Amino acid sequence: MGSNGKTEDNVPELTDLFYLPKLPDAHSSYSESRYVIFGVPFDNTSSYRRGSRLAPDSIRHAYDNLESFDPWYSVNFPDVPICDLGNLEVGEDAEEVIDTLHQVGSRLYRDGKIPIMLGGEHSITSGMVRNLPDAYMVIIDAHSDFRDTYMGSKFNHACVTRRCLEILGRDRIFSVGTRSTSMEEKDSGIMDQASFYSARYVQKNGIGAVLDDIKDKTSGQIYFSIDMDGFDPSFAPGVGTPEPYGLKDTDVRTLINGLGKSIVSFDIVEMTPVYDNGNTSMLAAKLIQDFIGSREGSLEE
Ligand code: MN
Ligand code: MN
Repeated sequence: MGSNGKTEDNVPELTDLFYLPKLPDAHSSYSESRYVIFGVPFDNTSSYRRGSRLAPDSIRHAYDNLESFDPWYSVNFPDVPICDLGNLEVGEDAEEVIDTLHQVGSRLYRDGKIPIMLGGEHSITSGMVRNLPDAYMVIIDAHSDFRDTYMGSKFNHACVTRRCLEILGRDRIFSVGTRSTSMEEKDSGIMDQASFYSARYVQKNGIGAVLDDIKDKTSGQIYFSIDMDGFDPSFAPGVGTPEPYGLKDTDVRTLINGLGKSIVSFDIVEMTPVYDNGNTSMLAAKLIQDFIGSREGSLEE
């Protein structure tokens, strides 16, 4: 396992020449920050195409190509107090990683921070959600992720929405972009306890109808989780389990814009850089700006 070394090991003449790979625009210390970014390079339960453990650094690298000012929101990101903690040290066991994230989230929320977690696979989301039992949840995902267990584990990424339902309770979860579910999940009857807006529903009725419905049914804090396979593969080819006929990039941006001020925690998961042509990491990086921009700025009409 590599190490970035301790601060006291740094030699002043050399630290001017080297940099630690952090998100550009994340110039703030933890204590001064409002947004705290961190990576979770964990992909052990991924079933099809692994490699999401490489996503946090890939997203940071892509972000480097974005302008720091966004005229859409009129926000200059270096002026926003953003801190990047780096990547979490993770082991092999999903439950252990989720427990650690429960502790990490507990500290971040207690300190009044807004976490931006870069996965890693989707299973990690439930660790953060454990700290917010009264929140609502909006999920972008091609899959229902509603299995009770998968490949012998309750903490598999195919079970994450069900685990979150157990924490939040019925009528608190809104999953958008669904187009893949198993008969077992459908027959369980438990899916009725969450709202699923299929990709087809979005295509037929427009994302505005979904946004209005979610706004009507939520009042309070929202955890926003983006499984990158919710997008159509033409927008986001670099994912672990791609699924055709998905959401447009602007569909998801509309939801972030419309709900941004209520979102207290944000994550981007399931991106797999080895299958990417560069578009997925760039979209993920832009989503970070869209989230911060939606909270910090006002949209130009
Ligand atoms: Mn998922
Ligand atoms: Mn998915």
